Amino acid sequence: MLQKSRVSYDVIVVGSGASGGWAAKRLSEAGLSVALLEAGRALDQSEFREHVPSFRLEQRNRTPELLRRTRPIQAGAGCDEFNYKWFANDLEEPYTTAPGKPFAWLGRLRVTGGRTNVWGRQCYRFSDADFKSASIDGIGEDWPLGYKDLEPYYDLVEDYVGISGLAEGLEQLPDSRYLPAMALTCAETRLRQRVKDRLGWTVTPGRVAILTRPKGNRAPCHYCGPCQRGCSVHAYFNSAFTTVADAMATGRCTLVSNAMVYKVLTDPDTHRATGVLYIDRETREPREVKAKAVVLCAQALESARVLFNSATRQDAGGLGNSSGVLGKYLMDHIWVGGGARAEFPDLAKAPSLDGPNRPNGIYVPRFQNTRSSHTAAFRRGYGFQGGETTTFHWRAPGFGEAYKKGVRQPVTTIGLGGFGECLPYEDNFVEIDKGVVDTYGIPVLRISMSFRENEHAMIDDMARTATEMLEAAGGKDVRSFTVHDRAPGLGIHELGVARMGTSPKKSVLNQFQQSHDVRNLFVMDGAGFTSSATQNPTLTIMALAVRSCDYLMEEMRKGNI
Ligand SMILES: Cc1cc2nc3c(=O)[nH]c(=O)nc-3n(C[C@H](O)[C@H](O)[C@H](O)COP(=O)(O)OP(=O)(O)OC[C@H]3O[C@@H](n4cnc5c(N)ncnc54)[C@H](O)[C@@H]3O)c2cc1C
Ligand code: SF4
Repeated sequence: MLQKSRVSYDVIVVGSGASGGWAAKRLSEAGLSVALLEAGRALDQSEFREHVPSFRLEQRNRTPELLRRTRPIQAGAGCDEFNYKWFANDLEEPYTTAPGKPFAWLGRLRVTGGRTNVWGRQCYRFSDADFKSASIDGIGEDWPLGYKDLEPYYDLVEDYVGISGLAEGLEQLPDSRYLPAMALTCAETRLRQRVKDRLGWTVTPGRVAILTRPKGNRAPCHYCGPCQRGCSVHAYFNSAFTTVADAMATGRCTLVSNAMVYKVLTDPDTHRATGVLYIDRETREPREVKAKAVVLCAQALESARVLFNSATRQDAGGLGNSSGVLGKYLMDHIWVGGGARAEFPDLAKAPSLDGPNRPNGIYVPRFQNTRSSHTAAFRRGYGFQGGETTTFHWRAPGFGEAYKKGVRQPVTTIGLGGFGECLPYEDNFVEIDKGVVDTYGIPVLRISMSFRENEHAMIDDMARTATEMLEAAGGKDVRSFTVHDRAPGLGIHELGVARMGTSPKKSVLNQFQQSHDVRNLFVMDGAGFTSSATQNPTLTIMALAVRSCDYLMEEMRKGNI
């Protein structure tokens, strides 16, 4: 039976991950009452097991069958025996894909904090050129805002989150406000020096949302390593224990766990959102919550799904979709499509099974198609992530004593994998698969996406330039690779399916992530991105969410919402 909440809130925020955590914090700290609806359950810190060795687990973390039975897709990234119960069950919450177009929808977390429980924490600002890329090369649309609009919000978010890194003064990758960077290894230091000297490109420590100095009640990182199993000292940014905790501390934020939002409810007379309908994942009962404004932060694809499922006679193609653009222009980064590896035997260090394990690597900011360099081979660019690893020589020849001696010889390798910008194509899109529902009876998404000529040209270039860098650094046995059949989705940066823009005819949201059609409806996750840039998106997602919340509150004050 449908249960209606008797309380009406100022704002409903859907999703408690990177964007939703910030929205809940910003709005509730400003005095608004917030219902934070999260499809996942509450996550107790006792579930963090970053210091538990695999052999203590029931199946020793050798669990392909366990994962295959419940999370065959989620097992593709960050999901193992330690944490698989944090992830959606792929069989209960399916999606479909177009024939011949595989898409890996990974990182579907179902706990407070969403993906920030397991993310890689790499944080990079977008540059002004990223917001204006269409004006530069004629592809797609410019963003309806520029770097200067977002800069104060980058500052605000970074000061709170805590980003360790190194200022490099690059136009294409603005510096953040940094905690001390994590140290490079000897091999990485040589790569940094030689690449700068010989090729003019920058190799820098990864800019990462992990504390290297104490911050409030969060301790600095102690380099234990397996962050995706949780971090008991809260050294890395996880919204569950930071932004969401702050929102709860105001006493004005109500966290509703296990609330799988089905649709946004609207009043046909005013064409305003009135609340949401959700399914309680435990009881399977439908419930309604009311509010003056609705903010979707469910992760780009999930938010698009909610909007499509909110279709009414008035909004037959999906809520807020008068432009017909909803679901289109899906982007994801090309993840490690091309790159190279090389050995550095002269800089080898003693291998160890016990760490320390630096939870971070190196970053090579985009150097193609910047103000000072141009290639006709493709538009836009890519960056590299990677770093040094030193392992035992497991493949040492021989047996007995000979093998024991050989296995202790360290193998020191640097690997570089390219992360490339994906162009916004209208026919990379999501829609509702009318024939399939999830275990809660909610229609699922059908995803149709492929990489095109531009992305494939970039992959080839990644292999070439990674080789050049490793050779410049004196690496031995340099081996390049290209993976042209890398499925979209593996970048886990789905963006653009409700893009922002100045024209309501060509976009779903305005520059404040407010629906052009429904004034009290906002989508503050990555759905609004107009282009994907090269950089990992979450820092920008968080900065945009805070900016949009400030606008929402101003509009409320003016009586427009
Ligand atoms: C393994 C991994 C590594 C990553 N590494 C990086 C990185 O290094 N740098 C980077 O920038 N990004 C990285 N990302 C991506 C990053 O985590 C996301 O960009 C970011 O978390 C997106 O924030 P969000 O608020 O949109 O969604 P999320 O953080 O995923 O939060 C969405 C929340 O909404 C909830 N939800 C979904 N549907 C509904 C619904 N219908 N009703 C109610 N609640 C719902 C979910 O349960 C979830 O808790 C990584 C992701 C993964 C999985
Ligand atoms: S490596 Fe650092 S950030 Fe990761 S779990 Fe350990 S202490 Fe936390």
